Amino acid sequence: MKRIDHAEASSKFIEAKDNADFHDRRLWDLRQKRDREKEKLPEWEELRTIASAIKEHTLTHLADYLEEFERNAVRNGATVHWARDAAEHNEIVYRLLHDRGARTLVKAKSMLTDECEMRPFLERRDIAVIETDLGERIQQLDDEPPSHIVVPAVHKLRTDVAEVFAKTLGTDPKNSDVHYLAESQRQTTRPHFLTADAGMTGANFAVAETGTIVVCTNEGNADLSVHLPKLHIVSVGIEKIIPKIEHLGVFVRMLSRSALGSPITQMTSHFRSPRAGTEMHIVLVDNGRSERLGMSDFWYSLKCIRCGACMNTCPVYRRSGGLSYGATYSGPIGVIIDPAFDLRKYSALPFASTLNGSCTAVCPVRIDIHEQIYKWRQIMSERNQLPFVKKEAMQLAGKVLGNPRLYRAALAAAGAGLEHLPRFMMYNRLNAWGRQREVPRTAPATFRQWYLANRGQK
Ligand code: SF4
Repeated sequence: MKRIDHAEASSKFIEAKDNADFHDRRLWDLRQKRDREKEKLPEWEELRTIASAIKEHTLTHLADYLEEFERNAVRNGATVHWARDAAEHNEIVYRLLHDRGARTLVKAKSMLTDECEMRPFLERRDIAVIETDLGERIQQLDDEPPSHIVVPAVHKLRTDVAEVFAKTLGTDPKNSDVHYLAESQRQTTRPHFLTADAGMTGANFAVAETGTIVVCTNEGNADLSVHLPKLHIVSVGIEKIIPKIEHLGVFVRMLSRSALGSPITQMTSHFRSPRAGTEMHIVLVDNGRSERLGMSDFWYSLKCIRCGACMNTCPVYRRSGGLSYGATYSGPIGVIIDPAFDLRKYSALPFASTLNGSCTAVCPVRIDIHEQIYKWRQIMSERNQLPFVKKEAMQLAGKVLGNPRLYRAALAAAGAGLEHLPRFMMYNRLNAWGRQREVPRTAPATFRQWYLANRGQK
């Protein structure tokens, strides 16, 4: 499998300057809103600790809670299926649809179905899948994957959306008013809800004690997807289990605050049993999760509640865009999940980070994200997954950093060298990161020189 070249893909994203600037501003705005909302809750840090403890407890008793969930869901009238991997998940969903003669599926947002590449799988079998979340619908109409797990089309300007809608929905290409665009999507999606043979949702949480699926949305599209068709299929990753309904409050209080800086989502829907005359099928999907649970350094990543806060705060993600990661999951959470799916393909991603720890600081379930990124770097090195140039450069850097005299000499030479280096040596086709930014001017003195001059005798 070809390696993802994140730096190269990012350089293309940055070329569209207006989009890149907007992307950065919009996500930083979400981060700031998150900060303001969190400040209103004095118990925020305590909530994070409790949320983390609930998740760790659940993950270390996962088999028991999954079986409890299954028993209760079946008692409620749902049918539970188990999918070992993406292929089994897709086959189960296809069989459910095919056996009932279903040709159309309206679907609320679900990263898991993207992970399983379910939509193309069903489309190849003549089943039409209509995304009903606004952002997902924009991305579907533009034939692009989501670039963010919460705001899938955040890399697009509204003029881009106007262009996509004009081409696909026949709207006025010159009208990029957000209300006009949202209403156009609403009007064109509604008929699909009314005629669809089946509806699909993901799950933010699956409660073992009650067998309930909980879905948090702001658009009400999940509820329409469930309540209009006669067949409701839920795709849920096995890590989404929480033990008790009382635990839900901990996560619901933090999910939307972390994601969008709003106190709660407009809808927090509980789906427990099928309505009279309808069916509810729940597909519990592993797809590499059990294996990750056995990885002592990385099982913490299974605590993730997919809020996207780590993406919004990450300077690399904000400036490189989600599509540059070439994976379903991007940003810091993607960097720690993706290599578990395919080590070689995603071997460059752990280097798409400054390791500043901001992701870890905002994570509502206290995942040590930047530590895991660092660990993945070590693994890439141990398993010979570093490109030749990086490997050589790192070995040289290791020698220099491990020798104080050499380090000080190198620092002095670099300072002088950078001042006089011809521009083409720094800013050329081979250096993707140098295309959009300037190296700052070096300080007239190093910290050590300053310290010796000012504090050395004290
Ligand atoms: S890793 Fe943490 S911050 Fe990032 S999406 Fe998951 S829960 Fe949110």
